[in-house]
Amino acid sequence: MAARLHGHASELPSLPLRLSASRSCLLGAANRPPSALRLRPKSCRPARVMAAAASATAEEGLKKGIAEFYDQSSGLWEDIWGDHMHHGFYDPGVTASVDDHRAAQIRMVEEALRFSGVSDDPSKKPKKVVDVGCGIGGSSRYLAKKFEAQCQGITLSPVQAQRAHNLSVVEGLADRVTFQVADALEQPFSDGQFDLVWSMESGEHMPDKKKFVGELARVAAPGATIIIVTWCHRDLLPSEDTLLPEELNLLNKICDAYYLPSWCSAADYIEIAQSLSLENIKTADWSENVAPFWPAVIRSALTWRGFTSLLQSGWKTIKGALAMPLMIEGYNKKLIKFAIITCRKPE
Ligand code: SAH
Repeated sequence: MAARLHGHASELPSLPLRLSASRSCLLGAANRPPSALRLRPKSCRPARVMAAAASATAEEGLKKGIAEFYDQSSGLWEDIWGDHMHHGFYDPGVTASVDDHRAAQIRMVEEALRFSGVSDDPSKKPKKVVDVGCGIGGSSRYLAKKFEAQCQGITLSPVQAQRAHNLSVVEGLADRVTFQVADALEQPFSDGQFDLVWSMESGEHMPDKKKFVGELARVAAPGATIIIVTWCHRDLLPSEDTLLPEELNLLNKICDAYYLPSWCSAADYIEIAQSLSLENIKTADWSENVAPFWPAVIRSALTWRGFTSLLQSGWKTIKGALAMPLMIEGYNKKLIKFAIITCRKPE
């Protein structure tokens, strides 16, 4: 998640991804909700072809932006926060000291496994894990060690993949923890390979949530557990078709500051999992448990070391850092939800 110090989305040819309200990200940019369909010209075939081409270009721009952002910012994150690039899990209402954060990040991994019912039992524990959106491999190494498993990580960032490999060599894990640059929406794996499919704070980057979950399900072995821990927007009320304009405005600002396409809700993920006939589908809202995280990231950026490192990592990173209070505002307004969604592929 890298504190989402991402670059500026307005550099991307991806406006259609950002401006859609809530549903289009589920369906893919080429498959718009009814309000967008009403704008179609009479002759819709060429328009559809053009829309598909525009959305393909937008997705390429988004991927390039994500890769460049993580290439540039991962070193700074690792210096200050270590190899886990995701929120920590805290007891609600507790003020965490800086020393607690690494433990809170490990706790996030453990809570996700516990919530999803992943067994430590030697006969049932996962043996092959995929880490989709692996960062510099913090989760990959942790899971490989914990379960004595093999783990394959994918990221869009070549710098992350190389650093993840180097850290695994140092830990003596390079023979069973490997990394490559690859797209989560077109994974370089054959069907049904992995008995744990892990996505820690990468789902929010995916422009097509249905394709994303579809790929997670495709590479999962029969009976495998799929775990998605991700940023969502609040569930819509039955009377709502979309978020409120001021809510969309805040999310669009966050998307502008970071490399994010449209957001969706946890309920949307559930709907997708159901549509794919996945089983044991469960979700939880952990927003309260991550509340101390963003203030801590801001505090770390305000230390002398954090501040000088930030200045050296360039304008994109600084702009992302300046937008961090927007995340806190989103959580405070109960618009942004930190969600876990888990399910199982049928046997
Ligand atoms: N899961 C890691 C890193 C989270 S940062 C951790 O918890 O430490 C988000 C990660 O998602 C980055 O590594 C980024 O490259 C990856 N990512 C985003 N979009 C992706 C895509 N389409 N395919 C593969 N990886 C992607």
